[in-house]
Amino acid sequence: MSSGKIMKIITVCAFALAAVLLVLSLAGVFTPSANYRDFNYFAMDTYVTFRLSEEGKDGKLSDSYLKEVADKCAGILASIEYSISSHSEKGEVASLNSDVNVMVGASDTLLSVLNTSDRIAKLTGGAFDYTLGALTDLWNVSGGGPRPSAKDISYAMTHTGTDKFRIGEKTIQKTDKIAKVDLGAIGKGYATQAVLEYLSTTDVSYAVISLGGNIGIYGEKPDGKGYRIGLRDPDSADGIMGYFQITTGFVSVSGDYERYFEEDGVRYHHIIDPATGSPADSGLRSVAVLASNGPAADALSTALFVMGEEKAMEFYRSHVIDFEAVLVTSDGRVVTTDKIDGSVFELSNHNYKLSGSQAE
Ligand code: ADP
Ligand code: MG
Repeated sequence: MSSGKIMKIITVCAFALAAVLLVLSLAGVFTPSANYRDFNYFAMDTYVTFRLSEEGKDGKLSDSYLKEVADKCAGILASIEYSISSHSEKGEVASLNSDVNVMVGASDTLLSVLNTSDRIAKLTGGAFDYTLGALTDLWNVSGGGPRPSAKDISYAMTHTGTDKFRIGEKTIQKTDKIAKVDLGAIGKGYATQAVLEYLSTTDVSYAVISLGGNIGIYGEKPDGKGYRIGLRDPDSADGIMGYFQITTGFVSVSGDYERYFEEDGVRYHHIIDPATGSPADSGLRSVAVLASNGPAADALSTALFVMGEEKAMEFYRSHVIDFEAVLVTSDGRVVTTDKIDGSVFELSNHNYKLSGSQAE
């Protein structure tokens, strides 16, 4: 077997394991619970759970009604995936990423995700960059690499950057035919929010949904306590390092353990620093972001990972976007922003030390 093939298998296994563990690591949310029905799917390249309350706005909801709602939620994901996924060969992003100069008739979904992405790219000084397609294709992390040459990285970098795209109200213009968008760092957050918006039109009273590392909370739980959500320990295959207790909004986690391949003993993960063209080496292992907006939570968890602790905290203090975060550093510290007190995040693994708001 070629080494490329072996590496590919290692990566695929790592992803499958990580994804399963992600669900397990959310055990606080997804251990069976009497008042809910859980519906599981695989969509947008990840494991998805819709946990819907059986309690409706006018009494108990039937199994068949809940199943119908869950299937509609899955349909929403499928339609979003068609519009924004780089994986679906027949989708809209595939046409945008082909050598066109201008794309007319893009869906509202694609235009809305691109407009939001463009705004967040500018606000984060390019740490979140939706135009990295040429680079992420080159690194092929999900396919197991291999590590590209410095020359190929430099070449791909000349075909990235928000200046390569002009996103209008109806059209998308490319100033560089080779440039490609990659919406992998924002799509799941957008989809999580879209599902919650749909749920608000149904009879379901409250729900929590999980799409890979993205969680969205809908409605108000009658006990007012919210949901207990485990944060995975980046160093342990099945360990949890702490728990969030959250009543509303969105949580998104980005980490170097989610998707990666290894070559010559080095781990190459899937979060790229647009400034270097290589996996971000920012001194962080994982970042969890809490926000009232799904796409922002998703994009920011990736952006803060790229920024590293110092810049991420500076960005937080600039208040250009409202969010709270927990940063896990490579030297075993857990840095929390100002509003994350012990009632929002509780560290359970004492191999880590609290620093930031909770330690003060
Ligand atoms: P996941 O998709 O595993 O939940 P993220 O939300 O952090 O993780 O998104 C990472 C994905 O986003 C990568 O797989 C890649 O497709 C894309 N990406 C990588 N680096 C960046 C970046 N700096 N800005 C925007 N997108 C990125
Ligand atoms: Mg993200």
